[in-house]
Amino acid sequence: MTGGPRLVLRERRPQGTQVRLAPGLAVGGPAFVVMAGPCAVEDAAQIRDAAGAVAAGGCPVLRGGAFKPRTSPYSFQGLGAEGVRLLLEAADAHGLAAVTEVLEAGDLPALEGVALLQVGARNMQNFALLKALGRLRRPVLLKRGPAATVEEWLLAAEYLLDGGNDQVILCERGVRSFEPSTRNTLDLSAVVMAKQRTHLPVIVDPSHATGRRELVVPLSLAAAAAGADGLLVEVHPRPAQALSDGAQALLPATSRL
Ligand code: PEP
Ligand code: MN
Repeated sequence: MTGGPRLVLRERRPQGTQVRLAPGLAVGGPAFVVMAGPCAVEDAAQIRDAAGAVAAGGCPVLRGGAFKPRTSPYSFQGLGAEGVRLLLEAADAHGLAAVTEVLEAGDLPALEGVALLQVGARNMQNFALLKALGRLRRPVLLKRGPAATVEEWLLAAEYLLDGGNDQVILCERGVRSFEPSTRNTLDLSAVVMAKQRTHLPVIVDPSHATGRRELVVPLSLAAAAAGADGLLVEVHPRPAQALSDGAQALLPATSRL
């Protein structure tokens, strides 16, 4: 027996896996699913305005971090359980599903009602967290680590399936490279390889991949052309006042940028 991926492999389920987020809403099916919203839930008005814009744009899933993994301990850390409550309230008002990050298993009780649990890039190899989520029967969005190989990413997903949870969506969000003009470098070849090697849906986050608003729409189109099943995109009603990632946030009603 080798230690390589097994349960995630395409030959295990050639028709592909559909991850069901809500009645009539699945990722990995025929629909291209766009998840959008601010980096972090900041206050009631901000997430309410964002939800309105996301719904008006036809996106079925609202994003917004409540438990935030920040590089600096001095940066805004998120509103925690109160942020989740505000996110769900704003999503419910428009019939949207919600996606937010789970930083540690202990946060799970506060994440009741969240349709999709995001494992952030920095936590991709937090094996204790992956094992805890593998024991759940709730959809998980697994971001690729900024320095993880495709094999390591697939093996992280393998932890979830090995635990019994096959409701897993992979998300490419850029890898660290030598190029300083973008926050990360979007690796679209990894998207194609993950689609070919596994039966799991794959989405792309062009916001964290680039860090630059003007690159988000072109790379979203490139992701769709590469065969992605959807997108995770940051949108903020007032990006200049954002507490995190304002420079990469699309503005509401921005159809071209
Ligand atoms: C996020 O999507 O909120 C986030 C923190 O992204 P990443 O884990 O990819 O850095
Ligand atoms: Mn962000």
